[in-house]
Amino acid sequence: MTSSDHSCHDQPVAQLPVHQDLLSSCVHCGFCLEVCPTYKLTGDENNSPRGRLRLWREEAEGRLEPDPWTAFYTSECVGCLACETACPANVPYGEIFEQVRQAHVDSRRTRPGILIRLAAAAAVRPALFSLLAAPVRALRRFGLQPHRFLFPGQPALRQSTADYARQLMQQHRPTGPRVALLTGCLMEAVYREINFATVRVLIENNVQVTVPAAQGCCGALHEHAGLGGVEQLRQRNRRAFAEQSVELAVTNSAGCGLALAKTLSQNLPVRDVLSFLGDIGPVTRTRTQDGTRVYVDLPCHLIHGQKSPGIPAAVLDATGFRWELAPAAKDCCGSGGVYNLQKPENARQILAGKSAFLNSAAGDPAILATSNHVCLMQWHLAGVLGLVTRPYTVRHVIQLLDPGDQLTVRR
Ligand code: SF4
Ligand code: SF4
Repeated sequence: MTSSDHSCHDQPVAQLPVHQDLLSSCVHCGFCLEVCPTYKLTGDENNSPRGRLRLWREEAEGRLEPDPWTAFYTSECVGCLACETACPANVPYGEIFEQVRQAHVDSRRTRPGILIRLAAAAAVRPALFSLLAAPVRALRRFGLQPHRFLFPGQPALRQSTADYARQLMQQHRPTGPRVALLTGCLMEAVYREINFATVRVLIENNVQVTVPAAQGCCGALHEHAGLGGVEQLRQRNRRAFAEQSVELAVTNSAGCGLALAKTLSQNLPVRDVLSFLGDIGPVTRTRTQDGTRVYVDLPCHLIHGQKSPGIPAAVLDATGFRWELAPAAKDCCGSGGVYNLQKPENARQILAGKSAFLNSAAGDPAILATSNHVCLMQWHLAGVLGLVTRPYTVRHVIQLLDPGDQLTVRR
């Protein structure tokens, strides 16, 4: 058993607090096996959705002693939710997995690594997180990536997305639908240029953008790590978004979008910004056709979590680039929120299979585009690890729609 970020403890634990009806909903058909990245890697039934559900159910029913192996196989799951899409019995795997994972952390059968616990602690204080990450933004801005996960970009050092949106709104005065943007914790602290691009694209498309000042982390990081405190984070965002006079909330990260939908769905529709733009028909960029080719990958939390059909073709056409879906675009890239920190070797192997096509793919330059910053970090890592040996760049799809300097703040 290997686990770089989890340690197991042989101690009695409370029975799994998972409702029996949820656990017994699996009919053992096995349709989920062929889509599961950890089953495909190992061929081990225990490392499949069906196998994990069986282990959890036997433990919950008292037929299996709580042991380190169940905790190990639980920690092996990427959380990609591909099994939910494949399941004909509608087993709510993600909900069960979240409950089990948190129970394992609560009872100290698993313990998230120090980096993840620090990030989770910082994420609940967005202003502090942003301040602590200022040196990282500065290094990225000057073309120095201080960590192998960090992809190039030019984030603003001091100005927040909220302030930027306010200024741009005053100057351009769009009159269309009114939306509230979730800026996120990691996205705002480190990848702020993507938030700025999102604001520019929305305003260019006549959308009124507001950025709730009191918003905070969506809780996805805590969910991924099995850490508590998610409900408090959700309550803060419920209050922050309820104060806005808007028609819907939009997100530019598939994982955060899923978390925000769980938070607000009773009160306010939550839409992925690209799906929303697909409905309104975005302004098309005009480009000189050169050898550039864009390969589009689809985040698991967009298609399996939010149950979206994907990124609308109208949006991808509007980028003005020649584009195509990456091979196996619906398969997991191995990022899994914090999975590439917790299980780096598994994540590397999943990424190796997924990214190999880029080595011989047409296009010069080649751009890998997707709509989740954590997936972008993973795709950038493919080059750092030498899995992709030809030059390529990673971009959020919203950046490919960005009017950039054509819609700047005039001082
Ligand atoms: S969430 Fe993904 S990795 Fe986990 S069991 Fe389902 S398909 Fe496998
Ligand atoms: S597809 Fe659904 S019902 Fe079938 S084995 Fe997998 S989880 Fe169980």
